[in-house]
Amino acid sequence: MKYIFITGGVCSSLGKGLTAASIGMLLEKRGLKVALLKLDPYLNVDPGTMNPFQHGEVYVTDDGAETDLDLGHYYRYTDSPLSCASNATSGQIYNTVIKRERRGDYLGKTVQVIPHITDEIKKRIIDCSSQEENIAVVLVEIGGTVGDIESLPFLEAIRQFRNENPEDCLNAHLTYVPYIKAAGEVKTKPSQHSVQALRQIGIMPDVILCRCENSLDQEVKDKISLFCNVPKDAVIEEVDVENTIYEVPMKLHEQKLDDLICKKLNLPDCRPNFDEWKNFIEVVKNPKGTITIGIVGKYVQHQDAYKSIFEALSHGALKFGYTLVVRKFEADKLVELNNIEERIKGCDGYLVPGGFGERGWEGKIFTAKYCRENEIPFFGICLGMQVLAVEYARNVAKISGANSTEVDPHTENPIISLLNEQKKVMNVGGTMRLGAYSCKLNKTSKAFAAYGKEVISERHRHRYEFNNSFKDVLEKSGLLFSGTLNEGDLVEIIEVATHPWMVGVQFHPEFKSKPTDPHPLFEEFVKAAIDHQKKV
Ligand code: GLN
Repeated sequence: MKYIFITGGVCSSLGKGLTAASIGMLLEKRGLKVALLKLDPYLNVDPGTMNPFQHGEVYVTDDGAETDLDLGHYYRYTDSPLSCASNATSGQIYNTVIKRERRGDYLGKTVQVIPHITDEIKKRIIDCSSQEENIAVVLVEIGGTVGDIESLPFLEAIRQFRNENPEDCLNAHLTYVPYIKAAGEVKTKPSQHSVQALRQIGIMPDVILCRCENSLDQEVKDKISLFCNVPKDAVIEEVDVENTIYEVPMKLHEQKLDDLICKKLNLPDCRPNFDEWKNFIEVVKNPKGTITIGIVGKYVQHQDAYKSIFEALSHGALKFGYTLVVRKFEADKLVELNNIEERIKGCDGYLVPGGFGERGWEGKIFTAKYCRENEIPFFGICLGMQVLAVEYARNVAKISGANSTEVDPHTENPIISLLNEQKKVMNVGGTMRLGAYSCKLNKTSKAFAAYGKEVISERHRHRYEFNNSFKDVLEKSGLLFSGTLNEGDLVEIIEVATHPWMVGVQFHPEFKSKPTDPHPLFEEFVKAAIDHQKKV
């Protein structure tokens, strides 16, 4: 088993997750099975309780772990197994150690960061590597920036790990090489300092990856090589990509990063095959047209809050040779500003993503109504499905005051209400209906047409559900309940049968879309949007 540790320096948001995923993809294309692990230094047990404005999207795995959004990159670039063993936070690690202490496992000992916390971190690395058979390389991404107090135990653990497995580890450090416009120069000093900080704690990087705006001169690379103590061919640039983030692995490959890693770790030297990957990048570079999707949500100004949705939409668009343009609408502002139709009109389709609470709810309801009445494709995800159901109940079935109890706990007609199993739940963290459940599709539905099979499995993260006591009346007024929990009667998919494409799903299909294998529902939604564009 080989281990690659990826650290970051200078500042955050340099794209460590993307880099880890890209390296994983390069190794996979060389025939090696990889697993990826994200270690997060914050004290929350998982990101599930964090505000998406702070943390971005919460990525959910099949086994119901609420994890960091970098796991979404891992999914899109690689076939790494993804589960609760793929993400660990300081909160989780401390929680485990403290529980053990209470149980008496350390009786007589003083429980300390070294060795108890660091041992638990090393155990997580091993657990990740043993998720499946035949994993050859584990890539471990350390969240945060070198120099943060919080990430010290993780860095100490990877230092020890390498000491114990000297032949099998490689450290890659991602740093930032800024261009100072006024001086007309790029600066290597921040990188030198971040490598110094690493060396102080006993970690010697083997590869320096340099995030930069423009390609670096050889002179600059030589300087980084000298000061950061790595060979010249181990200074790799990561210039901002022009067309798509999916170009990143190819750019790294052009600089022979995968060769270098394989040589250093004594991995088999084989020819990678990138044909499929290159093909879709060509499509991105030469699109047939653009497709515009309006997203009406609560967290739209935050770049990362709907990360997987943007990606899944772009995969759908790519499939038909289109590039995606997203127009973002803040749902609550729409209502405040009124004249909503004037503000949102002009897109080829609209998507209402998942969300919580009543803020922006009426703006989303309006969007569903606007799409239904004007036969514009509409895709509702999780809360978006609930919006679709309530809008239909109010405006087609004429059920007065129809609502969700999440929005109005005293509504006379609760079309959406708390899941039964949620009624006794007291804690907020990790208690939603989470992870994969299988769903049976109605053969006459658009959902079935998209998936092409009767039983599907999708991932969930919610507390409320469609209230089945309204099923008959809504069915009579034309709503199609096209997907139901395989073992139960929980509604998973709703469609407006007479509409060109108006589908709502209680689950999160966006987590399972890849550029090389777009999710069927996103594909069909984009197709409907393209048809709509042509018609208009
Ligand atoms: N707030 C809704 C629920 O809990 C929807 C959740 C979501 O969109 N992820 O059911």
